[in-house]
Amino acid sequence: MALALVLNSGSSSIKFQLVNPENHATDEPFASGLVEQIGEPIGRIVLKVEGEKHVLEAPIPDHSAGLKLAFDLMDQHNCGPSQVDIVAVGHRVVHGGILFSAPELITDEIVEMIRDLIPLAPLHNPANIDGIEVARKILPDVPHVAVFDTGFFHSLPPAAALYAINSEVAAEYGVRRYGFHGTSHEYVSQRTAEILEKPAIDLNIITCHLGNGASMAAVEGGRAVDTSMGMTPLAGLVMGTRTGDIDPGVVFHLARNAGMSIDEIDNLMNKKSGVKGLSGVNDFRELRQMIDEGDQDAWSAYNVYIHQLRRYLGSYMIALGRVDVIVFTAGVGENAQFVREDALAGLEMYGIKVDPERNALPNEGPRLISTDDSKIKVYVIPTNEELAIARYAVKFAKA
Ligand code: AMP
Repeated sequence: MALALVLNSGSSSIKFQLVNPENHATDEPFASGLVEQIGEPIGRIVLKVEGEKHVLEAPIPDHSAGLKLAFDLMDQHNCGPSQVDIVAVGHRVVHGGILFSAPELITDEIVEMIRDLIPLAPLHNPANIDGIEVARKILPDVPHVAVFDTGFFHSLPPAAALYAINSEVAAEYGVRRYGFHGTSHEYVSQRTAEILEKPAIDLNIITCHLGNGASMAAVEGGRAVDTSMGMTPLAGLVMGTRTGDIDPGVVFHLARNAGMSIDEIDNLMNKKSGVKGLSGVNDFRELRQMIDEGDQDAWSAYNVYIHQLRRYLGSYMIALGRVDVIVFTAGVGENAQFVREDALAGLEMYGIKVDPERNALPNEGPRLISTDDSKIKVYVIPTNEELAIARYAVKFAKA
C-alpha cells in the first residue's frame, strides 16, 4: 500500500501521520503520532498504530532527534520507513504569503522562499522549515511537498484582501489578509461539489471551520472570495483561546494603561482569550455542561461566540449574493449540534431551515442537516487536513 507521510511541525512538537491517500475523511490513518516537549529535559513520543498506543520518553534536543526517534519507534512497531511504502512526504506550512497559491514540490529554493516569509509567521514557519530539512535528510529519495495553509486564499479579490491602512506601510511589511485553514476550506468545498454531483464552478458555498481555531470562508464558483482570518490566525471568529476580531485600539490601551508588553498582549489575545477567556474552558463539551448547570459566564461566552458567527454568516451571504450551501466542519462544527442549530436559528426567511433530526445524527461522515425544502442546503462534512495534504503529496509522486 502506497502511503504518504504527513508532517505538521510546531515550535516544540511534530505531529505525524502515515496516510493512505485513498482513505475517506473519517477513516483512521495507517499510523499517527506526536513528538512533543522538544528542547525540554525529557521529551515524549506517542505512536498510534493498529489500535495500540506506544509511548517513548527520552531527551529530544531538537526536531532532527525527534523525527529520528519517531522513525525508530515506528520501526519497532513495523511501520517504519524501511517497512512501509512511503511514496511522498507532505509538509503543512502555515504561511505562504503572496508567493504560494498551490502546493509546491520542495527544493532548496522553495525552502529559502519559505524562510523569507518568517516575519509573517515567526513561530510557525521556522518550525515548518526544521521539519522539512530533517525529513528531507532522512527520506531523500521521495518527493517532499509543501502545502500552505494560506494557499486557497491567494485568490481573494483586493477588496477582501486589503486592509484600509497606509498602503506604503502595508506594501513594505506585507500587511494584508492572507487567511488560514485553507486546506480544510478547500477540501470541504470540493467534497460538497462531489456530494452534490455538481461542478464547483456552479456552487456558492459558505464554509465554517469551527475547531479550537475557527474560521469561515465565502467560496464562489470554487474560488475563495472572503475569509475571516486575516494577516494572522487571530482575526475573525471567536475561538477556543483567541479573541477573533477586536478593536485594535485595545492593544494601545493595554500597552499604555496596563503596562503590558507587546509579547504579553500577544499571549493574552492568542492563548488566554476567546471562549476560554470568557468562561474558563475552551472545550465545547465542558462549555455545554457548564451552561446546562446554569453557569452565567459560560452562557455569555457561548452567546458572544454565536453572535460573531452569525455576523460573518450574514456578511458572506451578502458578499456572495446567492448561497447554495453552508458547510460545517472541524471539532465543534462536526460534533456540536447545538452550535449549528443556534448559528442558523430563525433564518427561515433567508431560505435556511435546519432539520432537528438530521442535525442530531452522529458524526459518521458527510450529511445533509437541512430540510428538503430549505433553499440553502446545510451540510456537515468532516474535514481531514492530513488526508488532503497526503493526496497533494502523492500527486507529485505520480507526476
Ligand atoms: P479541532 O481543533 O478541529 O480538533 O477541534 C477541537 C474542538 O472540538 C475541541 O476543543 C472541542 O471544543 C470540540 N469538540 C470535539 N468533540 C466535540 C463534541 N463531541 N462535542 C462538542 N464539541 C466537541
